[in-house]
Amino acid sequence: MPTISDLRTTIVDIPSLRPHRFASHQIDMQSYLVVAVDIDGGPTGVGEGVSPGGPWWGGESIEGQQAVIDGYLAPIVIGSSVQPIGQLMSRIDTVVHANHFAKAAVEMAVYDALGQVLEQPLHALLSTGRHRDHLPVRWALSAGDEDEVADEANQRLRLGHRSLKFKMGALEPTQDIARLGRLLDRLDGPARIQVDPNGTWDRRTAMWALAELEALGVAVLEQPLPRHDLHGMRLLTERSVSVVLMADESVCTPVDAQRAACLGAGDAVAVKPGKAGGLHAARLVGEIAGVGGMRRFGGTALESSIGTAASAHLCAALDGLEEDSELVGPQLLADDLVAQPLEYADGSLRVPDGPGLGITVDWDRVDKYTRR
Ligand code: MN
Repeated sequence: MPTISDLRTTIVDIPSLRPHRFASHQIDMQSYLVVAVDIDGGPTGVGEGVSPGGPWWGGESIEGQQAVIDGYLAPIVIGSSVQPIGQLMSRIDTVVHANHFAKAAVEMAVYDALGQVLEQPLHALLSTGRHRDHLPVRWALSAGDEDEVADEANQRLRLGHRSLKFKMGALEPTQDIARLGRLLDRLDGPARIQVDPNGTWDRRTAMWALAELEALGVAVLEQPLPRHDLHGMRLLTERSVSVVLMADESVCTPVDAQRAACLGAGDAVAVKPGKAGGLHAARLVGEIAGVGGMRRFGGTALESSIGTAASAHLCAALDGLEEDSELVGPQLLADDLVAQPLEYADGSLRVPDGPGLGITVDWDRVDKYTRR
């Protein structure tokens, strides 16, 4: 197998099409760390580090990921064989603890390079078979202006999306539930509804809200409680009649998935490469959660087309993605980093089928958005 001759990192800042409001943060621009690995005499693989709206979600900033990769991961990666990737990641783990988003960015680039060397799409490297070629996308709405959110929701239903995700937690809980009720009344058609307060509720608020959400016909409640409160998540899961309790912040790694499944802390898991520490680890999260009887959701950290393509391959490789995906990242950006945009149609994302990630990075546009 060929060796990796170089690794480069570049921070890019891309404007958003519209502000994306979370419980306590708003994004007007997205920053990404583009990681490129050169194979000796061969292709270049690309990966992407993300930190949606800064380090509040996962603790890692884009700038920190660059420092960790340049200072500690690159010296291990450069000169290594492109395969086996597991061995390379094990060596990285002995030098750097945690830093999951940074490790995921590097692993993604190496996987892309390996796929190009072997002329295999990434989903084929992650799985014994591709289980789907289109991923239904649950459209993610901002917690911002109510009229704009209602218009966008109906526009997305017209485009073929069959499920919607509403961010919550930006308002006081009774106002927030009332806002959601008004928004659901304004929908022009049926949709599977998910809400995500990003861990901003306490147990009493979540118990109360669960009954209210059930009455509103909400299907999925994502991460109501702080990430460490697995026992609270179990209480909610036991109490819920119809609402699926989904773990996001509380289940990042395979060990987290094993713990949540054993404890009954949730009915579902959002699977994401960044928080897991890579595609291989994220696939394990999905497999463990599935074996533990939990539903799987193809989550997003609002990646650009690079990271979104990687997540699409991961979702395609997972058998039975019971809660669809939310791979909306590129559609929230005013521009793209790839020559051919990912294909969205009828509310679904087509899984790329070329070697590796199946995308071609437009390096002129990477240069245009490079932070100086
Ligand atoms: Mn979430």
